[in-house]
Amino acid sequence: VDIVEKPTGTNRNVLMGHVVILTDVTNFAEKDKAKTHFIATLSHELKTPVSVIQMSAELLRNKKSGDLTENQKELLTTIENNNERIRRMINEVLDISKIESGTIDVTLAKENVEELIEKAIEGVQLFLDEKKLSINKLIMPKLPLIKVDAHKTVWVLNNFLTNAIRYAPKGSLLEVKAIHKDHRVEISVTDQGAGITHENQKKVFQKFTRLVKTESGGTGLGLAISKEFIEAMGASIGVYSKQGEGATFWIKCLPE
Ligand code: ADP
Repeated sequence: VDIVEKPTGTNRNVLMGHVVILTDVTNFAEKDKAKTHFIATLSHELKTPVSVIQMSAELLRNKKSGDLTENQKELLTTIENNNERIRRMINEVLDISKIESGTIDVTLAKENVEELIEKAIEGVQLFLDEKKLSINKLIMPKLPLIKVDAHKTVWVLNNFLTNAIRYAPKGSLLEVKAIHKDHRVEISVTDQGAGITHENQKKVFQKFTRLVKTESGGTGLGLAISKEFIEAMGASIGVYSKQGEGATFWIKCLPE
């Protein structure tokens, strides 16, 4: 902070000196680390009960047909879908804590775009059915292989799809597109939801951003993790959107 004085009879400010204020943030950083560690430990502990619920639900579903009434089957689907949501949130928390401690590794290999897309769609099939959404796939013929970490790319596309499903109106159409343009392969997911304003488009890639609270929940971490994964592979990520006209989330990857 500058200390200034105006000598009598003049209009000038004369600088007399500075005051420097120092705040020790060590304590804050330690508390923040301890909090992240606590959340990560808790999330890890939650993995076992969530898998037990999933296995028990599968056992129930696999009972001879006729054992369960239609109503019971519907309830079972609700249990399975919501348990899957919890499982995803736990993994997001664990992923962000790995990213923050710098222990994420990337394995690049030549991958087939269509196979990656198929895997990502497979992972959200139950949510698509729940909301009666369909997907239009537009994949350019003769796409080159791309150099990516397959597991992480599928994770990111799956996250785009999960969001598209969450923010799209019931019964609408999603589009998954893959094109080869300007020496990059662009894979995108488009929905017909409310879209994102220009000023919010940067924010959605930051940790814990949740512009709207939806009943199906979310951690606000998915796109932040996606950005870290994609940039660690040397690829890029972004969104095109106009409010009221849906959103298109894309990644651009290097061909092999
Ligand atoms: P989460 O979905 O768990 O909240 P994300 O990081 O995946 O976290 O997304 C952050 C925020 O970005 C969401 O809460 C939502 O407000 C906004 N968003 C993401 N995808 C879309 C989309 N397809 N349409 C509209 N808003 C979106």
